[in-house]
This record gives sequence, structure tokens and C-alpha cells, in this order.
Amino acid sequence: MECAIANFVAPGATVAVFANGYFSDRITEMARRHGATVQRLEKPWGQIYTDAEARDFIHAVRPQVVAYVHAETSTGAHQPGDGICRAARDAGALVIADCVTSLGGMPVRVDETGIDIAYSGTQKALGAPPGLAPITCSPRAVEYLRQRKSPPASWYLDLKLLLEYYESAHRYHHTAPISMFYALREALAIIEEEGLERRWQRHRSNHERFVAGLAEMGIRMHVAEGERLWTLNTPLVPDGVNDAAVRRRLMEAHGIEIAGGFGPLAGKVWRIGTMSYGSTEENIDLLLAALREALTAEGWKA
Ligand SMILES: *Cc1c(COP(=O)(O)O)cnc(C)c1O
Repeated sequence: MECAIANFVAPGATVAVFANGYFSDRITEMARRHGATVQRLEKPWGQIYTDAEARDFIHAVRPQVVAYVHAETSTGAHQPGDGICRAARDAGALVIADCVTSLGGMPVRVDETGIDIAYSGTQKALGAPPGLAPITCSPRAVEYLRQRKSPPASWYLDLKLLLEYYESAHRYHHTAPISMFYALREALAIIEEEGLERRWQRHRSNHERFVAGLAEMGIRMHVAEGERLWTLNTPLVPDGVNDAAVRRRLMEAHGIEIAGGFGPLAGKVWRIGTMSYGSTEENIDLLLAALREALTAEGWKA
């Protein structure tokens, strides 16, 4: 995230942020620290933007850079980027997309969507240890880098210097965490063995199995159908149920850790990851049974 901001947001640039959760707030904060003027379009946590909203906002703001979160881990919402990218291209702006919780678990069609800079992390749906953040830049973005006059405020994340390493000269920049590259390579080999499409399908069907099981218990989802992540689920905490007490029971009785909501969703939703090797039918069924048990113990009737 910071590499994308540092390299493509020059001081004084206008950045349009589609705000709808914690990570778009983090993008906002970083862009401000790098000297940008940030214009935000606001929606409640859990909602997403339509193509028409994206177009109107970008046309009004005329930004140099547009940023959105493809998979918002704080809310469970999936923001398709096609409309945003189309409008950004019309306005001559570069698009940054946060794909941390989607890459490896849901389709991330960077070029088809028109994303210029996409970044992710190794520790989510790729299923590797934390430590690396894959990033990709479109030819348009690379062209911007080559033309950029002032160097970015971050030396470590300076992609122009890194290009001199990755391209012809192999000029020393920093020592890479080599063991992490081996870990990522193995994680990608595992993905290749399963097949990307099959992996997406597995995440989708396990997510749907989970949502169906919750519905059977009478638990609804925070995010509207069709706008949900397959990797991160946000069921609503039923009325009268103590969110933290249920989480504690799951942990103590089963060693299952689920997360609470935070920010405006504190106490209102649970955040339950079903990603990478964690996304299995066995895990879903185990979790549903454990959740039913914990809720019953808390005096709630399914
Ligand atoms: C996890 C996550 C990040 C940042 O990853 P760290 O765990 O803080 O390294 C950024 N964006 C999204 C959407 C995430 O889910």
C-alpha cells in the first residue's frame, strides 16, 4: 500500500478515495502523509459503489490518482473495479487497487479491469507467511514512474531504483528476504497444482455453504448478497447476544479464533476468514456446529 502511494502520489496530487471501510481510511492517511490532497466519497462500512457513482465522483474531482479496496477485510464487501477504472481512465488518472484479501481466493483480473497498480500480501488468501507484498504496475504506471521528476519520499520503496535492479543493470538496492521468496514460490506452486479457477470455486462454494448454514440458524449477513467476499464473512451478531462472549467460547472450547467487528461495526458483526487452506467443507461444518453450541450456551435460540 505504501509503495503504491509513495511512487504514484506526488506531493500536491489529488487522490480520489472510495471510502467504505478501514483500509480505505488507511489509504487516505498514507496519501495525506505523502502530501496529497485527498477527496473522499463516503459510504457506510459494508456497502459498495455503483458505476454511476464512480463516474460522477471522478468527473467532479478530476484526480491524478484513484484508489479503492477490492476486498475490504473490515466489512466483508467486494468492490468490483470496472466502473471505477473506466471513469479514471477517461479522466487520465491512475488506479490503485487493494487486493490483499482477494488475491488467491477470488478473481483479481488486473488488466481486464483496468487497474494500474494492484498490491496484495502473502499472508491472506495466498496462504504463505506474512512478509512480502506482491505489487504489479501497468505500462501506463511504469511510464508515469519514468517521467516522474521528484523522487518518492521513501527510498526503500522507490520502484524506479528497484527497476534498475529487476531490469538490465541489476544494480544493488537492498538485500531481499530470500527465505520469503522461497515461501511465496511454494505457495504459488500449491495454487498452480490446485488450479486457480478451481481454487476460486472452492472459496466460493465454502463461503456459500457457510452462509447457508448461518441462514438455517437464523443468522443474517451484513453485506448484501452478490457483494460479499468469499474469503472473509461478516455475519450479523444476533440481537441480545454478547459478541465477545461467543468469541471467547469458540476459542476456549474449540481453539477457533474468529474476529470481532471494529470501528462502526464493533459488536455488530463477526469477521470470519475462510481463505487459503482454511477454506474447507470440514472447517465450515466444524465452525457452524461450534457457533451453534456457543450461541446456545449464551442463551440464544436458533
Ligand atoms: C490485511 C490487509 C492489509 C494490510 O496487511 P497487514 O496485515 O497490515 O500487513 C491491507 N489491506 C487489506 C484489505 C487487508 O485485508
